[in-house]
Amino acid sequence: MQQIIHYSFHFIVPVFIALLLYRQHWVKAYGILLLTMMVDADHVLATPVYAAWRCSIGFHLLHSYPAIVIYILLLFFRPARLVAIGLLWHMATDYMDCLLQMVYCK
Ligand SMILES: [Zn+2]
Repeated sequence: MQQIIHYSFHFIVPVFIALLLYRQHWVKAYGILLLTMMVDADHVLATPVYAAWRCSIGFHLLHSYPAIVIYILLLFFRPARLVAIGLLWHMATDYMDCLLQMVYCK
């Protein structure tokens, strides 16, 4: 169930973000939001590459707190704003996963 929620937040909620913020070009905006999923490429630097129990936030390079601060700063630059929104939504989704793990793994 947690996986369904996680991937729904990664793939379905961005449709609504795109429709809400970029109604006329929502398909392109949705595509850009999906491309921000490439931030998970930093997982290949970890061993093992995927671990269901691991919290990505604060562990992987592009999911680190300094990286998140940079994503927040990118919100203030219009050309990068949509990418920043996608990255921050990704971080929020991953963080929700961490919170669920903390609740259910106690
Ligand atoms: Zn991630």
